Amino acid sequence: MPLIAIDNVKKRFGDNEVLKGISLDVEPGEVIAIIGKSGSGKSTLLRCINGLESIDEGNISVAGAKLGASELELRNLRLKVGMIFQQFNLFPHLSVGRNVMIAPMIVKGVSEAEAMKTAKANLEKVGLGHKFDAYPDQLSGGQQQRVAIARALSMSPQALLCDEITSALDPELVNEVLTVMRGLAKEGMTLLMVTHEMRFAREVCNRLVFMHQGKVHEIGPPEELFGNPKTPELQQFIGMTQ
Ligand code: ADP
Ligand code: MG
Repeated sequence: MPLIAIDNVKKRFGDNEVLKGISLDVEPGEVIAIIGKSGSGKSTLLRCINGLESIDEGNISVAGAKLGASELELRNLRLKVGMIFQQFNLFPHLSVGRNVMIAPMIVKGVSEAEAMKTAKANLEKVGLGHKFDAYPDQLSGGQQQRVAIARALSMSPQALLCDEITSALDPELVNEVLTVMRGLAKEGMTLLMVTHEMRFAREVCNRLVFMHQGKVHEIGPPEELFGNPKTPELQQFIGMTQ
């Protein structure tokens, strides 16, 4: 059974149909990169998967549970899939450790001691165990994004949705974040990542989804899409990114 099943999903903003019937099954442990031009619907798709946007038609289910409209279902869904954004959105007035601890404590009712233990382990995992007591503004952008990853992991998600998580970073800080993502991929975390990092997509991802005008225009293993793009749109896109 796929971990995330997306079936003929349509999404409109007013008259603008942004997702025009997207179908995609994500298997447990799969790492998928979503690529495509700005405006092709990549962010909207991720936002629909974790319920930040409602869908107009079709179905999305995560770990067998259908994305319903009720608050309770949405809440349960968000416990299953974590999302990381371009902007890290850490709480500036909280220490790094507290940033990572807060959601499990408030949303899941985890005890402070247990939240601290999990936070420390996840900060270690992203290479920031020593920054537990630091504040976000004392960290580089790459470090802040790694805290955001640790924060997402602390909810024990079954999958992580990542929307251009390295796009706001100075070039020299991109790799430290991608290294963390490589480690998660290796551990078997299911990842659905909108990214412009073509080398990462090529080396780490099982499959690549090329979105164009609200549709899955091409899909397949990276070597196939990069090596033998079938449509002029993908050929042009690859040309632009090289
Ligand atoms: P991408 O992430 O591929 O750049 P988006 O999913 O952000 O694309 O946007 C796809 C289209 O949906 C764009 O035309 C954008 O203007 C529109 N859109 C996205 N979010 C909203 C919104 N909240 N309200 C109205 N239009 C939106
Ligand atoms: Mg986007």
